[in-house]
Amino acid sequence: MVTIPEKPWPTGLAEAVEPLVLRVLAPNPSPYTFTGTQTYVVGDPQGPDCAVIDPGPDEPDHIAAILAAVGTRKILAIMCTHTHRDHSPAAAPLAERTGAPIVGCAPLVLAVDGPRSDEAFDPTYAPDRVLLDGEGMRGTGWTLTAVATPGHTSNHLCFALEESGALFTGDHVMGWSTSVVIPPDGDMGDYMASLEKLMARDDTRYHSAHGAAIEKPKQLVRGMIGHRRQREAQILRLLGEEARPVSGFIPEMYKGLDPRLIGAAEMSVTAHLLDLEKRGMAARDGAVWRVV
Ligand SMILES: [Zn+2]
Repeated sequence: MVTIPEKPWPTGLAEAVEPLVLRVLAPNPSPYTFTGTQTYVVGDPQGPDCAVIDPGPDEPDHIAAILAAVGTRKILAIMCTHTHRDHSPAAAPLAERTGAPIVGCAPLVLAVDGPRSDEAFDPTYAPDRVLLDGEGMRGTGWTLTAVATPGHTSNHLCFALEESGALFTGDHVMGWSTSVVIPPDGDMGDYMASLEKLMARDDTRYHSAHGAAIEKPKQLVRGMIGHRRQREAQILRLLGEEARPVSGFIPEMYKGLDPRLIGAAEMSVTAHLLDLEKRGMAARDGAVWRVV
């Protein structure tokens, strides 16, 4: 289990994590967000312009802290890695306050109910420009390039800061926990492919939306790929023992789990099962899963 560090956390302060990057922590800690969402302001602090990555929740204190970190610089782009509610809702009010365009991931509005529903999504997100894989934004002394990394959500992007070799990884790879993959929008096969995509890159460091900077990125990603393969092997073993519904995997697979995270764990198991189904290795009869 991950334990959340003791307060005080640096909520509302601009921390310099590298010469071109300030980090501002939003006041939204939870079992899903760790100490909260981290917004990044990218660009020379003494320069004329910057970009804001993952503006976070629409909280007046947080927006004020972002604006303080920006200072007198012009925001050339408000960039979101994806549209979960802890990442993008501050984009619209920040755009309204500053006139900056919203540039980045595609909009994705899922149904409020029904099989495609997901209340974790932000329905207010409306980008001025969507970046495709390899497209980017450039300011004075900084260049950010989108790296499409679907899986956690289908619209997830990472952003590479070309000048330092850092990668802003959003929720794809985080400093405190593995990513949750919640079907139907989250897709385990895509997530694994997006982890392999990062293994083929040579980013020097990751700045994720939650948790500390990651200084040995490949080591972490390799571990995450191994972790998922292990989970998959565990699921296949349990399925081999007996057919069962999703809830029947949790006690063995997630010992000592925070009860608030049981729903997320079931989603993650479901994501693996759907991936195994797609690959012809598992099948279901109603809610009961079995091996093929
Ligand atoms: Zn997310």
